[in-house]
Amino acid sequence: MSRLERLCFDRGLKMTEQRRVIARVLSDATDHPDVELLYRRATEIDSRISIATVYRTVRLFEEANILEKHDFGDGRARYEEVPEEHHDHLIDIDTGKVIEFSNREIEALQHKIAEELGYRLIDHRLELYGVPLDRDQNAKRGKAR
Ligand SMILES: [Zn+2]
Repeated sequence: MSRLERLCFDRGLKMTEQRRVIARVLSDATDHPDVELLYRRATEIDSRISIATVYRTVRLFEEANILEKHDFGDGRARYEEVPEEHHDHLIDIDTGKVIEFSNREIEALQHKIAEELGYRLIDHRLELYGVPLDRDQNAKRGKAR
């Protein structure tokens, strides 16, 4: 049983065979896929799964708080199972690659800011957008050739 299936089970969600497949695909993913990509992976396992089923299932999992939805700036919703340990994301705007990181200083600083504003922090989202440091160098080298 995948971790997501286990979470569904714990929350008493009714699991059809197709939902199970989608849960497994989500649990296996390390790349924050969008619905199109989930659909492609799910149909590799069970070709009868429709894109409508993927949309519905993703919404169901999201409402059950076992799936996190992200917007990494390209207007497409990306998904990952709710992580066991919090992390933030850095998005390579050239390739769309998503890198996960966590930083204790940033975490502490956010708590401090919230406190100074009179709040207890319960959640946050942090997305960094960048280009690789060696990109311009590579472009120059490419031209010289
Ligand atoms: Zn992530």
